[in-house]
Amino acid sequence: MPTNPDPFVLIVAMEEAGEFIQACSKVYRHNGGEEERRALSEEAGDVLAMITLLEEEGLVDLKILNEKRIAREVKHRRN
Ligand SMILES: [Mg+2]
Repeated sequence: MPTNPDPFVLIVAMEEAGEFIQACSKVYRHNGGEEERRALSEEAGDVLAMITLLEEEGLVDLKILNEKRIAREVKHRRN
């Protein structure tokens, strides 16, 4: 873990997470409209990009990330 993490990357990650939350809400409110689904895909890409940058900064551990991701997928997958 870096002793002096870059605040810019953390702040942009927070902003993108907020945009992703808002896009999820709009898909729900607009019953899965095409434009809203496109916006959700774009925001998901932004979040993934920020996760990559956080990993490059030494702030995200990909081993922990993947273990948690798999557990969450198993818990919530509908089929
Ligand atoms: Mg965004």
